[in-house]
Amino acid sequence: MSHQMTRRHALTAIAAGTAGAAALARVSAADAPSPALQPPATPSSAAPQPPSVGPLVLPALPYDKASLEPHIDTETMEIHHDRHHKAYVDNANKALAGTKWVEMPAEKIVASLSDLPDDKRMVIRNNVGGHLNHSWFWASMAPPAKGGGGEPTGTLADAMKAAFGSFAGESGFKDKFAAAATTRFGSGWAWLCLMPDSKLAICSTPNQDNPLMGDKIAGCGGTPLLGLDVWEHAYYLKYRNMRANYIKEWWNVVNWTAIQSRFGGQSEMNK
Ligand code: MN
Repeated sequence: MSHQMTRRHALTAIAAGTAGAAALARVSAADAPSPALQPPATPSSAAPQPPSVGPLVLPALPYDKASLEPHIDTETMEIHHDRHHKAYVDNANKALAGTKWVEMPAEKIVASLSDLPDDKRMVIRNNVGGHLNHSWFWASMAPPAKGGGGEPTGTLADAMKAAFGSFAGESGFKDKFAAAATTRFGSGWAWLCLMPDSKLAICSTPNQDNPLMGDKIAGCGGTPLLGLDVWEHAYYLKYRNMRANYIKEWWNVVNWTAIQSRFGGQSEMNK
């Protein structure tokens, strides 16, 4: 039970500061397997068994799978969330079981990969990374009818102008971010990060690496504010090999309110 609670708190921590992610955390708490919270029906009849479900929990989506249409199709959302993300969660839980890292929030685990035992480091890097990246990814999107798309406003818009010249202008933020996402060879992610000097930066990582892993491991540092999944499983059913078209359409579902909220929270922590 304590593991379940800890992980739920961890997910809330991941989501802290973003409106969309807060909804995600609420839904995921409700979605967590309930039997672990209840006393066993026959407490003394059998030897204690480890829980069949590990401490990381697949978060429920904060919107309907069909609601990102036509930009992201329903079937892709189903397979991406229900199968790919679930597999990262299951594999991460298997690798973490029985280790001291099982109580640690996913963000902390990926930030301390060098402390992990050699035989578990890669599987945890890939699968806890995958869980973290996807949890953020879902919370970074919203249906177009419910706030998805448009442009950032307020302090995030100001910071983008300072860092990239403009949001949507030539060679501005969108162009640079799309270039990072398009040119990532193979599978990976493009990121908008808040750097320690409080400036914004764009980078990309391979596989399921996350900027929190640090520049030495992931080739990219800072605190991620927005990530775009450019694995083929994120777009191939609808867009086939046309990754650039997927990226162009994805802008229509970015939840800038959530990203602004996360930016505000992280900026405060940097002070
Ligand atoms: Mn993915």
